[in-house]
Amino acid sequence: MRPEKLNPLFASIRSLSSVGPKRARLIAKALAGRGAEVGEPRVVDLFWHLPFNVINRRHRPRVAALSPGEYATLALTVGHHEPPRGAGRPYRVRCHDDTGEITLVFFRSEPRYLKRILPEGEKRHVSGRIDSFQGALQIVHPDYVLDEAGLEDLPLIEPVYHLTAGLSGKVLGAVIREAVARVRELPEWIDAEMRAARNWPSFTEAVRRIHMPEHPGDIAALGPPVERLAYDELLAGQLVLALVRAQLKRGRGRSITGDGAIRARIRAALPFSLTSSQEAALAEIFADMAAPERMLRLLQGDVGSGKTVVALLAMALAAEAGHQSALMAPTEILARQHYVTIAPLAEAAGLSAALLTGREKGRAREDVLKRLASGDLSILVGTHALFQEQVMFHDLAFAVVDEQHRFGVHQRLALAAKSADGVDLLVMTATPIPRTLVLTYFGDMDISRLVEKPAGRLPIDTRVAPLTRLDEVVAGLERAIDEGARVYWVCPLVEESEALDVTPAESRFAALKQVFGDRVGLVHGRMSGKDKDAAMAAFANGKTAILVATTVIEVGVDVPEATIMVVEHAERFGLAQLHQLRGRVGRGQWRSSCVLLYKAPLSEPARARLETLRESDDGFFIAEEDLRLRGEGEILGTRQSGAPGYRIARPELHGGLLLAARKDVQLILARDPQLLSNRGEALRTLLYLFSKDDAIRLVRAG
Ligand code: ADP
Ligand code: MG
Repeated sequence: MRPEKLNPLFASIRSLSSVGPKRARLIAKALAGRGAEVGEPRVVDLFWHLPFNVINRRHRPRVAALSPGEYATLALTVGHHEPPRGAGRPYRVRCHDDTGEITLVFFRSEPRYLKRILPEGEKRHVSGRIDSFQGALQIVHPDYVLDEAGLEDLPLIEPVYHLTAGLSGKVLGAVIREAVARVRELPEWIDAEMRAARNWPSFTEAVRRIHMPEHPGDIAALGPPVERLAYDELLAGQLVLALVRAQLKRGRGRSITGDGAIRARIRAALPFSLTSSQEAALAEIFADMAAPERMLRLLQGDVGSGKTVVALLAMALAAEAGHQSALMAPTEILARQHYVTIAPLAEAAGLSAALLTGREKGRAREDVLKRLASGDLSILVGTHALFQEQVMFHDLAFAVVDEQHRFGVHQRLALAAKSADGVDLLVMTATPIPRTLVLTYFGDMDISRLVEKPAGRLPIDTRVAPLTRLDEVVAGLERAIDEGARVYWVCPLVEESEALDVTPAESRFAALKQVFGDRVGLVHGRMSGKDKDAAMAAFANGKTAILVATTVIEVGVDVPEATIMVVEHAERFGLAQLHQLRGRVGRGQWRSSCVLLYKAPLSEPARARLETLRESDDGFFIAEEDLRLRGEGEILGTRQSGAPGYRIARPELHGGLLLAARKDVQLILARDPQLLSNRGEALRTLLYLFSKDDAIRLVRAG
């Protein structure tokens, strides 16, 4: 159970007196960043919403010394009021000090109120951003107008947060301060010597200093308070990885070898020969499987690099040794896709494979489960339905997990529990994480990389165009479809604020139907599994020529005949996500193209993203650009998938802390593997604090 002390921090933000339903929604949006779907934040989530800047209200220059753009707190004498000279014009209040004049400007403000807070002839302290308009100094809507008494309450260093439309910095600041007031001293989990050496405050003190800063250094990424929290987060993350790894490695593995017969038959059935990257990865995987230890390997390969075949050949080795394999995908569509690829090849080699998702029901499901338990099935492909208790393998020896970052610790363990003799684990990811980050996200894993694309692939012609040219794009599609092309048309998810009755995908579907009639299909996350399948199948077999979709097709969907990818509102997608989407085309022998439609005007980061895509098709280059442009959260797509990534630590800045945390964890677990000492207890609190509840169970099980 979570320590009681933490409960007030894990209550919904609506438990704060300053937050009602409407504010809660706005705050959720501000915390999530662009395009993410999240539930209602908890109080603790506010702690992790770090200010990215501060306004120094201690800066108190005279008017003559002001420069536009700066924030300043001025001691002014209020001059005369000038009510608006027409509709839409502002209300002005002329003010001055000994050295010069400045005008306060208000739009749509109540004159009576302005007269009250700014009485003519009195002295007032006014704080805000200095502007210049037609050569004269002004402040539009000052942040604070205070008398002598009020000045005492002015926050001298004010944190600046990422906001969202409808949520002001003043409001969010007040909400966060209320949240921070809830935090109590917690037992210290950081080694005393380390804390002293780095001059780190306690956790509570760090949270206070970051959100109620007294110096700009209090919010600096490399200042003690933020470093302290970054370390906490990294420590929690490394502790979880170490616990999971210990659990997976516990007990012996087994040596899996075979005579090569099944693998040879699969190779013979492939219409292509393997790339040298694929061969190299297979050699490493086979060696791991043959070794008596448990395998824990990451197979990294850009979209279209051919990971599935590698997985299949490894499963074939397990079958040669008489064991079973499982392949798990994060979504039903992906699981089906893998199954469709694997089944005919497996059949050609005399292997039996089956599919199990939440949708296989009734007799068919019973049948799969029976064949699995009897050992009649060699390969089971599915979603997390594979983890359910009723799913009993006869002899599971090898598991492949696709797109692992969408699987939690909990699922990893449930999988390991499926076999008493240990399961060799291969994780596949198309996310081209730089090697240094692999450690952060996956812990100590061996890595194989597919660095080349299958031969004969043509480059994808990528174009960027404003949405105003949509008609031209549609006309182009008409020609292409007449010539037999197949097209993905991807629309963004609805943003909460838009509150539309139909989603962008649904309305685009309706519009394209007017032009293309029955040749358009639709697939999105909220459709029933059956409808999704039907839509995918119709597209795969050419019954429909255009598939309007949300990002459900982002990963893994494989229709080699698809040659055109249109992404609508491309400015709303992350770089890695766009690269994944584009990877859905260019898989066959035909020349493919990708059209990124954006809504003008483009923000600078969005322009940089689209530019990068236009210039490059290299996943690793794009990942590095992404890291440069946005930090690592986006690279992993963690926000889109809702899995918790790092919110405070920034691997590009805190890499040293990561290594320290790793070392620390090794020492801790060597001394106190059950986390029973005082420090161990404190570390459990830390795990709860960062919502790693799953990992706590691991400690218990230990
Ligand atoms: P990934 O999962 O890495 O994105 P897939 O395994 O889905 O890629 O493979 C993409 C496509 O390339 C599939 O149609 C697959 O059959 C094909 N393919 C895989 N390996 C090769 C190869 N060596 N030569 C030609 N085509 C290949
Ligand atoms: Mg794949």
